[in-house]
Amino acid sequence: MILVITGLPGAGKTTLLNKVSSEMDGEIIILSFGSLMMEIASVEYNIKHRDEMRKKLTAEQIEHLQELAVEKINEISKENPDKIVLVDTHAAVKTTYGFMPGIHDIMLQKMAIKGFIYITTDYEEILERRKRDTSRYRDLEDILHLRLHDQMNLAVLTACSIRIGSPVKIVLNREGKLEEAAKELRELLEAWKQV
Ligand code: ATP
Ligand code: MG
Repeated sequence: MILVITGLPGAGKTTLLNKVSSEMDGEIIILSFGSLMMEIASVEYNIKHRDEMRKKLTAEQIEHLQELAVEKINEISKENPDKIVLVDTHAAVKTTYGFMPGIHDIMLQKMAIKGFIYITTDYEEILERRKRDTSRYRDLEDILHLRLHDQMNLAVLTACSIRIGSPVKIVLNREGKLEEAAKELRELLEAWKQV
């Protein structure tokens, strides 16, 4: 079963997934769509780090990477029919040319996505996390631009949800409340396992 998890950069997707994964020993497989794209981009386009992709590549190049990443995810899901495959990605990706859908039509057509999960919290908290996390090159935007990005994310998720009839679950990852967010996510995944 494939679920897609998204949220603004710095919302805490990867942190949450790592936590839940260690608690649900072996029951879920986490795949970072960006990392899968990056593996291919480094070979094909000489891209050096993840945050460079959305600035240096054209829409067509990004689409090509998305197609190859989808093939890889489907392979892994087929090999692990009893596990939940959680794809960590972005809904709307900020590029030089404007917002691009991180969840492309190819994903909706070729991957059987059962549901979408949206991780979010207050914009001030996300901005602080971006400033603190020096391991990445995230944009340090003002609150208005974070809100606009958030709205674009929800617009993309709404379109995806309508397109394939899969639900969007919003999980809050409040500052210092990782435990609570992980519990909510774990309960959601347990519920999906019963389907
Ligand atoms: P990206 O989409 O850019 O990969 P992300 O959503 O995966 O971002 P993370 O890398 O998981 O974000 O988290 C960003 C930073 O926020 C990290 O430094 C992480 O430790 C911190 N963080 C995550 N969740 C919380 C929380 N609930 N409280 C405080 N800090 C948090
Ligand atoms: Mg991440």
